[in-house]
Amino acid sequence: MTEPLLRLDHVTKRFRGLVATNDVSLAVPEGAICSLIGPNGAGKSTIFNLVTGYLPVSEGEIHFAGRRIDGLSTRAISHLGVARAFQIAKPFPDLSVEDNVRIGALFGREGPRDVERETEQAIALCGLEPLRDRQALGLTVGNLRRLELARAIAARPLLLLADEPCAGLNPSETDEVIEILRRIRERGITVLLVEHDMGAVMRVSDSIFVIDAGRKIAEGTPVEVAADPKVIAAYLGT
Ligand code: ADP
Ligand code: MG
Repeated sequence: MTEPLLRLDHVTKRFRGLVATNDVSLAVPEGAICSLIGPNGAGKSTIFNLVTGYLPVSEGEIHFAGRRIDGLSTRAISHLGVARAFQIAKPFPDLSVEDNVRIGALFGREGPRDVERETEQAIALCGLEPLRDRQALGLTVGNLRRLELARAIAARPLLLLADEPCAGLNPSETDEVIEILRRIRERGITVLLVEHDMGAVMRVSDSIFVIDAGRKIAEGTPVEVAADPKVIAAYLGT
């Protein structure tokens, strides 16, 4: 078996008395789209915060691209090739779509880069050509989401963490985001997704990790997870 791109080994995160992440182990293979699902407060965003180095782990280890990354700074982890697309995008409002993407291309994974080429490719991949000269201020939620994905992939990550990219979108905008995520994978970027839209998760994921009250309670293909009684119970709250 080849080494996964991202691996969490027995990761625990405590906030004073609260165990937000409880002994979670999971492996994201290179080239996959994997999803983290679970009820509100389950600990999904905390896992993203641990992987990006925004929060320190309490116990356990995180390995990325053959290196141990827990304990590294957010900046060092970004340099290694982890990018995050936030649910609430905060672009520079006065700048154009293109300039916002260009700023993404100026940061991120270390190594040789062609900022103009990365900017162009990210704009094209996210279908933003018609909007490239528009100010970020005033974009619709759907277009802001695409800008956020473009900014993140312009940084040439090996791994994209996408936090609820479909939240608040209508069905056709959701389909567009799914298509963009597939194109991102085709570019060779591995994706770890947190998403509440179960239809979107089921359609786009190669595999799914189910988190409930900080613990991983199930994992498998969309078909396996959807049929798992533990998952159904977690969602119905029984
Ligand atoms: P999810 O993203 O699955 O909705 P979170 O990871 O945001 O869940 O939160 C998991 C639990 O950890 C929640 O009970 C939340 O209140 C708590 N939590 C998250 N971040 C912090 C923090 N920085 N300080 C204290 N508690 C936190
Ligand atoms: Mg969250």
